[in-house]
Amino acid sequence: MDFASYIRDIEDFPKPGVVFKDITPLLKDPKAFQKAGDALLGFTHNMQIDKVVGVDSRGFIFAPMLAQKLGAGFITVRKSGKLPYSTISESYDLEYGTGILEMHSDAIEKGDRVLVHDDVLATGGTAQAVCKLVEKLGGEVVQCNFLIELTFLNGAEKIKGYPKEVLLQY
Ligand code: IMP
Repeated sequence: MDFASYIRDIEDFPKPGVVFKDITPLLKDPKAFQKAGDALLGFTHNMQIDKVVGVDSRGFIFAPMLAQKLGAGFITVRKSGKLPYSTISESYDLEYGTGILEMHSDAIEKGDRVLVHDDVLATGGTAQAVCKLVEKLGGEVVQCNFLIELTFLNGAEKIKGYPKEVLLQY
């Protein structure tokens, strides 16, 4: 399937000079949505995975489905102040701004094999912070997967220690 035809470029969003990859046309189309999920699942071919971590907020679209299909638990990494229980945190640089990401302190057990999922890998700051959170709790990141990688932002450099899979590269 030509997934790229379901991704829309939005110029100057969320601020001037940024071309935002909008995945909502893909989500809106039943076949494309299903096939994108199947493709992400295919990246994990027979891997044993204990937890799937989804990243606030578009990472929450596919990560729970992946967790259910893999027989894994689903973990949310959220922006600062959103999680109710005790948290661990990492600061990160974004393509546009900086922030803090948090995870519940009991989200990962020591030795858990963890899949990290987000919609887009841009500069890699987000994914790198998420991997650090997983490792702080003793988890092992066995794969990071994304719908889209913006290769010109070199995010892969930041997570080069982890196996990475992506559906679409720009
Ligand atoms: P990074 O930390 O620079 O890699 O940015 C990745 C994070 O920003 C992800 O959580 C994405 O959801 C979001 N993001 C960055 N660029 C885009 C985009 O073009 N489309 C959708 N999300 C984006």
